[in-house]
Amino acid sequence: MSSSHSILSEVFGYEAFRGPQAQIVDHVVAGGDALVLMPTGGGKSLCYQIPAIARQRQGKGTAIVVSPLIALMHDQVGALREAGVEAAFLNSSLSGDEAWAVEKRLARGELTLLYAAPERVTTPRFLAQLDELHARGHLSLFAIDEAHCVSQWGHDFRPEYRALTVLHERWPGVPRVALTATADAITRADILERLQLQEARQFVSSFDRPNISYTIVEKKDGTAQLLRFVGEEHAGDCGIVYCQTRKRVEEVAALLDQHAIPALPYHAGLDPDVRQRHQDRFLREDGLVMVATIAFGMGIDKPDVRFVAHLDMPKNIEGYYQETGRAGRDGLPSAAWMAYGLQDVVNQRRMIDESPAADEFKQVLRGKLDALLALAEATDCRRVRLLRYFGEASTPCGNCDNCVSPPNVWDGTDAARKLLSTVYRVQQQSGISFGAGHVMDIVRGKATEKVAQFGHERLSTFGIGAEFSETQLRGVLRQLIAIGALTVDSEAFNTLRLTELSRAVLRGEVPVQLRESVSQQGGGRRKRTAPGAAPSVSAGLTQEGQARFAALRAWRGEVAREHNLPAYVIFHDATLAAIAALAPRSLNDLQGISGIGAKKLEAYGEEVLRVVARA
Ligand code: ADP
Ligand code: ZN
Repeated sequence: MSSSHSILSEVFGYEAFRGPQAQIVDHVVAGGDALVLMPTGGGKSLCYQIPAIARQRQGKGTAIVVSPLIALMHDQVGALREAGVEAAFLNSSLSGDEAWAVEKRLARGELTLLYAAPERVTTPRFLAQLDELHARGHLSLFAIDEAHCVSQWGHDFRPEYRALTVLHERWPGVPRVALTATADAITRADILERLQLQEARQFVSSFDRPNISYTIVEKKDGTAQLLRFVGEEHAGDCGIVYCQTRKRVEEVAALLDQHAIPALPYHAGLDPDVRQRHQDRFLREDGLVMVATIAFGMGIDKPDVRFVAHLDMPKNIEGYYQETGRAGRDGLPSAAWMAYGLQDVVNQRRMIDESPAADEFKQVLRGKLDALLALAEATDCRRVRLLRYFGEASTPCGNCDNCVSPPNVWDGTDAARKLLSTVYRVQQQSGISFGAGHVMDIVRGKATEKVAQFGHERLSTFGIGAEFSETQLRGVLRQLIAIGALTVDSEAFNTLRLTELSRAVLRGEVPVQLRESVSQQGGGRRKRTAPGAAPSVSAGLTQEGQARFAALRAWRGEVAREHNLPAYVIFHDATLAAIAALAPRSLNDLQGISGIGAKKLEAYGEEVLRVVARA
């Protein structure tokens, strides 16, 4: 067994490296520089933690980990300490005395890893301290987490990151590893240049997250659909629900709560204290649902988030993938669920149109939105499309809604032509454009007040599509907007306008294929659990196993509270479920379970055996 592998099993209790972890670790242990691109939940932390431990054991001193997320350093350091690794952090949450104590430990060479915020690392005072360490050969490694923060093109630019070039300039011999989950080409090139990592070896992982199942449904009564999804498929689970506006966040959180699904709101309009409290509760308690705007989530590394739901459509696939990526970091089955509708398309288009950005930039944004719409409307494998978007080829996954129950497809070309010719005639007759609702009424031949007011019952297209339901026409409109054969004029009451492409559709040159409305197929393809049931992780356990799992979770909750750490830092759900299934009687039985390293076996082994025996 290599020393890296023995650290993996002895310290972290894991059996095997995932994906390119082994290669990365070996490269960095040997003193190489690396740029690591891995999806959220791919396992980036071990890529610098294991080299840090290995190099410390070789007498090379302390690794410095630069992280922008002050709120999370505490938990990360807590997790390392639970695993028996000497770690500490330096950031503005510490008092002067506390910081001083950490600096003393650093100087004495007691730390294997030190986490620090970028603005702290680059102060002259701290740099001088690193000089001293380096002079004694005790500066083992720099890890730069969330490396995309150095790039303006990344979604989270932090100017403090720019100053980190000093690390390389001052100590060119100390290996550096930069890590990010943001993989697009511009950002990657920018990271290499800004951090002077041109010579570094690049490790690019597959962006697939096989344990996440993707489902995208047409929005009818969005909140009721959400309640069914959470209540029937994720009772007792921890999850995140993303909404577009603060108001909606508040409403949905209250609604879930009314339905006995414990939920908390999170958005930028809340008092910072309240926000922090909600985030802490989400990280520390079991089975909470966070209802949030996209203000929530950066660096949330809670491993047992079982679902991410989008009640409103995000802006682009990058955002969708990053947000859904927060599900299932522990590798257990998890769900990404999104409801989307015509209104989402209209809203997102409007936001782009009304933004002060330059025209070319808006064009890029529209293209990105279209790609997401195409994903939503797709009738083939969602994962194949997602991965293709990130430049990766794959085959149908068997773990998305379209693979599990292939949707019926209907040919909407005729309906599309009827809609487009109506838009054309209305404009021609009245000299103004109208919105989607009115256009659909005309096509379906509904004698509304507005129809009478404008004399639209006299149009040749009045009632030509009476055979179509409103749902069908809505689907066609969405599709037309998605492919750019119609635009929504947000400056004129969301009225519909023809485009260049409309003509080709009118001539029948562009086929319009649509998924049949999902509700017509009936839902319920998955097993249903009653509200208040055990979370899905333990679903495979026998009744006695469930009892042991519940007892172990209760015990873990107490330990976590005593240590002031999130429960998952003590043991992951997957580890507890494995213990509950095995019903171990001796420390020897416990030893082989994934997630139980030497230190945890020593600290908790006996207690766990007692809890299992009593349950
Ligand atoms: P990232 O930072 O890439 O989002 P993390 O480093 O937080 O991901 O890892 C995600 C989860 O996967 C963590 O809970 C971690 O403990 C677990 N993990 C990472 N590597 C392994 C492995 N080789 N075996 C088992 N679990 C792992
Ligand atoms: Zn699929």
